[in-house]
Amino acid sequence: MVIEADVVVIGAGMAGVSVAYELAGEHAVVLLEQESQPAYHTTGRSAAMFLESYGGPEVRALTAASRARFDEAGGLLSPRSLLWVAPGDQLAELSALVAAQPELVPLSPAEAVARCSALRADWMAGALLEENASEIDVLGLHQFYLGGARRRGATVLVDAALRGGRQESGRWVLDTAAGPVSAAAVVNAAGAWADRVAAALGVPPLGMRPLRRTAAVARATGVDRGWPLVADLGETFYFRPEGAGVLVSPADETPSEPCDARPDDLDVALAVERVNEATTLGLRSVVTAWAGLRTFAPDRKPVAGPDPAAPGLFWVAGQGGYGIQIAPALARMAAGSVTGGAVPHALSVARFR
Ligand SMILES: Cc1cc2nc3c(=O)[nH]c(=O)nc-3n(C[C@H](O)[C@H](O)[C@H](O)COP(=O)(O)OP(=O)(O)OC[C@H]3O[C@@H](n4cnc5c(N)ncnc54)[C@H](O)[C@@H]3O)c2cc1C
Repeated sequence: MVIEADVVVIGAGMAGVSVAYELAGEHAVVLLEQESQPAYHTTGRSAAMFLESYGGPEVRALTAASRARFDEAGGLLSPRSLLWVAPGDQLAELSALVAAQPELVPLSPAEAVARCSALRADWMAGALLEENASEIDVLGLHQFYLGGARRRGATVLVDAALRGGRQESGRWVLDTAAGPVSAAAVVNAAGAWADRVAAALGVPPLGMRPLRRTAAVARATGVDRGWPLVADLGETFYFRPEGAGVLVSPADETPSEPCDARPDDLDVALAVERVNEATTLGLRSVVTAWAGLRTFAPDRKPVAGPDPAAPGLFWVAGQGGYGIQIAPALARMAAGSVTGGAVPHALSVARFR
């Protein structure tokens, strides 16, 4: 039996569930996930931060526009400020960031140490504070969208990989692991697999690049739960309190095929070494480590909206390292485009076609 829908969304990570939520109610939506668990891939592996000073202008605008949804869902953000720190050789980056974002508060090394007592004042030349950054309850947001989409009538199918598809008389006919599905529109929200999904539908790829990023939790003593997320301006490491220890990352970007990403021991060791250089934490043992694929378009901006190369195909992809914090605004834009709404050229699929 063929499942009939108005819109099929491919992928039940944060991108797919948020778009399905925005479309359900008004449209018959089917959400297809290849894994048996939604949020198994990148969405379940993030550092869970909401940072308004992170990313280029388009990402920052999407982040700011997303805040209202977090507030409306309630209880999904908890205070965790962001401290950008710069050793002497990163002062040019620090000047550029404060020029672009004058709302950031410049701090001296001593003032930075007052915010995070583990930092070495003699390691830093300067710092910038984003006071109102937050930690995100990522699975809470994912559940808000997934549960909400279901309540609005969406059908969610797991173990339902899209294998192929073609257009027939203005509709997509999809071959999936859960059987055939037919829909007027398809939304490609497949994360690291977005180009593979396009290929399965006979559509040219956009050149999406999955880049592996590693995170680990290390045992630490003397951690103050109120410390900010500390990140260096050169993006070579970050850390923040997590449980009884600290979450650390070497901010790596290793090109990868779409896959179930695994952490490399060397990347975990690099994270520990870099955090130890900048702090007095003296980290030695790692409790757990993981990796996820941050997927970027060639110009590192998100991609949303209709594909000029394939009528009835829409994208919501290339969220890079911001896909949780920008999900609400990007989902509204991508869902709106399915019914004819506009997408700015800088975020459109058309910029690559
Ligand atoms: C270490 C790390 C730290 C991060 N920190 C942050 C942060 O602090 N803040 C932030 O906002 N972002 C952060 N990110 C980025 C964020 O996690 C991602 O941008 C976001 O999760 C992307 O969501 P997605 O739904 O596009 O991808 P995914 O979560 O990967 O979802 C895509 C889904 O599509 C499914 N799929 C693929 N192909 C098919 C198919 N053929 N058929 C059916 N289903 C298919 C996959 O199984 C997958 O579930 C971080 C990422 C990493 C790795």
